[in-house]
Amino acid sequence: MIRRNIIIGIDGIPFELMDNLSDKGIMPNFQDLKREFTFKEMKSSIPHISSVSWSSIITGENPGEHGIYGFTDMIENTYSLRYPNYNALKSKPFWYFHPDRSSVILNVPSTYPAKELNGIHISGFVALDLEKATYPKKYVPILKDLNYEIDVDTKLAHQQSKDVFIDELFRVLKIRRKTFDYFWETIKWKNFMPVITSSDRFGHFMWNAYENSKNPYHNRILEFFNEIDNIIGDIKGRIEEDDTLIILSDHGMEGVESNVNLNTYLEKEGLLNLSSNLKNYNRIQKDSKGFVLDPGRIYLNKKGRYPNGMIIKEQEQDTVEELKILFNDLKYNNRKVIKKIYEKEEIYSGKMLINAPDLVLIENKGFQLKASIGKADIFEQASSFSGKHSDSAFICINKDIELENPTVTDVIGLLG
Ligand SMILES: [Zn+2]
Repeated sequence: MIRRNIIIGIDGIPFELMDNLSDKGIMPNFQDLKREFTFKEMKSSIPHISSVSWSSIITGENPGEHGIYGFTDMIENTYSLRYPNYNALKSKPFWYFHPDRSSVILNVPSTYPAKELNGIHISGFVALDLEKATYPKKYVPILKDLNYEIDVDTKLAHQQSKDVFIDELFRVLKIRRKTFDYFWETIKWKNFMPVITSSDRFGHFMWNAYENSKNPYHNRILEFFNEIDNIIGDIKGRIEEDDTLIILSDHGMEGVESNVNLNTYLEKEGLLNLSSNLKNYNRIQKDSKGFVLDPGRIYLNKKGRYPNGMIIKEQEQDTVEELKILFNDLKYNNRKVIKKIYEKEEIYSGKMLINAPDLVLIENKGFQLKASIGKADIFEQASSFSGKHSDSAFICINKDIELENPTVTDVIGLLG
């Protein structure tokens, strides 16, 4: 008999939060699973952002193979940004491994537009249009009846009172729960993968309300996680003995102390020249050695690859060394900003290595790396954001197995 796989994703939630709130009785269903089965910290992708991490989870491949290095990339031979979506994914997601097995794939980030498969696919963010986010199309009216939402309206988070935003988190989570319920029953499936993403939106805007028990919204955030636990409970109550159940996140979250504008740092150090008041990547001048894409991806300004490229092959390694020294020296209030610097070959391999950033920076706790262009200051308060991504994701699986230092590319190897 073919075993069924159920993978519940909770976007942006660190190991520490799941461990803490289940111990405190806020997430009793998760506590049962955690006690009985395997629960581990899981390393996120590099960089630790949703598009890269979910692409690694569903394909089992690193960005060097699947080709997704971030939410942005550059169009070949230009300095113009493109936004890689599901069409840019160069490896097959697990639901195509056994075409005879049907799948229900709900709200997985970076799977827009939805594509034909044996089953049902509703794309997660960044999804622009519900019609294009839905396969087969016959489910569009049903989703509309469910008042389906692709994402939380994050504009509400910038208001003075956070009450309206928290109401929005609950509203979208309730719709998610109804939608998961509906599709559980709709077809006979072998893979069922629902993802909750309002958890990441909570983290970016309200992390302080979780960390600080005196925060006026603390109890509502605990209620929010109790509601997420109810969804886990719904599914846990329906699984059969042979089912594989995995609950996981794609990356973690932590408090943000300061934004770090890396392109501004390169400008101030004379390695990036934008030479205009109208600053954008298209203003990169010939004497620039490199530039940054979000969050900490460094690209050498290579001759032949970019319109104003200056670095020739023989200069590449020296420039890499120069940049490493520069970023290692970056300090904020006497604290080192960068924890680790990877050269691309250390972390990536595969057919898409050609598009990899030359260096990837990993930040110390509390620093949010940014590639904004035209910022006056290197360090900046994070305004309405109180949380930022960390590399500490989690995985829980209902099997008694040894999981040594799991990472996002290991997940599909655990499926039945
Ligand atoms: Zn996020």
